[in-house]
Amino acid sequence: MTNKLKNYIGGEWIAARTSHYEVVPNPATGEEIAQTPLSTKEDVDRAVEAAKEAFRSWKKVPVPKRARYLFKYQQLLVEQHSELAKLITQENGKTYDDAYGEVQRGIECVEFAAGAPSLLMGDVLPDIATGIESGMYRYPVGVVGGITPFNFPMMVPCWMFPLALACGNTFVLKPSERTPLLAERLVSLASEAGFPKGVINLVHGAHDVVNRLLEHPDVPAISFVGSQPVAEYVYKTGTSHGKRVQALAGAKNHSIVLGDCDLDKTVQGIMSGAFGSAGQRCMATAVVVVTEDIADELVGRLTKAADALVLGDGADPKVSLGPVIRRSHLDKVKGQMEEAVGEGAVLVRDGRDVPAELASGYFLGATIFDHVTTEMTIWKQEVFAPVLSIMRVKDLTEAIELTNRSQFGNGSVLYTKSGEAVRQYREEIEVGMLGVNVNVPAPMAFFPFSGWKESFYGDLHANGKDGVNFYTQRKMLTARWY
Ligand code: NAD
Repeated sequence: MTNKLKNYIGGEWIAARTSHYEVVPNPATGEEIAQTPLSTKEDVDRAVEAAKEAFRSWKKVPVPKRARYLFKYQQLLVEQHSELAKLITQENGKTYDDAYGEVQRGIECVEFAAGAPSLLMGDVLPDIATGIESGMYRYPVGVVGGITPFNFPMMVPCWMFPLALACGNTFVLKPSERTPLLAERLVSLASEAGFPKGVINLVHGAHDVVNRLLEHPDVPAISFVGSQPVAEYVYKTGTSHGKRVQALAGAKNHSIVLGDCDLDKTVQGIMSGAFGSAGQRCMATAVVVVTEDIADELVGRLTKAADALVLGDGADPKVSLGPVIRRSHLDKVKGQMEEAVGEGAVLVRDGRDVPAELASGYFLGATIFDHVTTEMTIWKQEVFAPVLSIMRVKDLTEAIELTNRSQFGNGSVLYTKSGEAVRQYREEIEVGMLGVNVNVPAPMAFFPFSGWKESFYGDLHANGKDGVNFYTQRKMLTARWY
């Protein structure tokens, strides 16, 4: 039976005012699992109205009481950990282990948000002048719109609404139309946790929903995570309508490998960074920049490790590499591979030869290109698939210069045992999230997720104190007591 999804508005599951639905397949099998309504502007308006109404009382709920809803929510998420992970695997394709890890990262965001009483404290200076004091107080901003991508259906929404709600805002979530089921589960668990009606709302859909949120006069803040062109569009459109916007965008992450690294651990780290979640992570290792002295050995070892990956349905515990999200995406990636070959990249491992029994899913085996250069399109564009590019350099200085030429600046890793190299790297690299000998340096919820350059539009990042500042406005009181 067709599973036609509904919106969640003002505490009710309501059919969208549309006849247009998008089919959601399981990417491992191609089998239909749901249909996402492509909601209309009227649906958004209803959700914003419900959120606006709920804001009137939610903003006055004492902060420790707001935190208690989050404690309850955290408990429910922990109880449902495995079920949530299974759902992510079903709609996104990533392996159960990757999905389980993602749920954990989502729960950590709720735990961070539950610290609201400490996070929302203001500052007071009792004597800015004789007999005069000054204090800063935090207030919510109102109805926040959240727009999220397909690749982290749990973690990314959890960067947004738990903290926004803890800060006293109400929320309208527009999840990716390609992974709507986990969002639905997150919202029903929030309702089970007792959040009052209208505090969290869900509107399924695509660009029409986004555009209405961006122009809606009663939505003062937008949190966005997705690809670079859409992030730029969302930032420019939202800010031109007078909103505060944080827009986290695409990436092309470079891992730098120096001759003195621990090669076994480096290979493990790169394999996990490049091929975990089928390369569909904004922090995925897309490029390895390696010094000539160990380049041949590293490429040989990576190719061997890639041969050992097991391609298939992520629900099968033996599988280590799942599908990409859609057949159209797979076709696009194959086109990018053709172009790379045409531009002279050396295809060391070709993942296009997939076993016949996987033909109904959207599979690409681990793919490795060597001798990639900055002139090639495969270096310039985000591929977002299990495709790794290798670039060869003479030393760290050249590796940093090359990395800094990318339009993106999300994540980067350095593999070395040299403290001097780490210092040079930290000081000179133009990237916001760095790792040293770790595979994916994604910061935890109490730190900002701090991409640079065209990997981020805005000034206050998601999570950490940045998140608290984004979801609150400050009021200053200067007082003389006679
Ligand atoms: P996407 O840009 O296609 O979609 C993201 C959201 O924007 C979805 O909700 C979608 O419905 C909406 N959208 C898409 N096109 C639109 C348009 N033309 N107008 C208005 N709204 C539109 O991204 P995706 O493919 O779902 O996610 C993958 C991308 O997200 C990658 O580029 C990845 O690097 C990026 N990402 C970045 C981060 C980060 O922290 N920087 C984290 C996760 C994902």
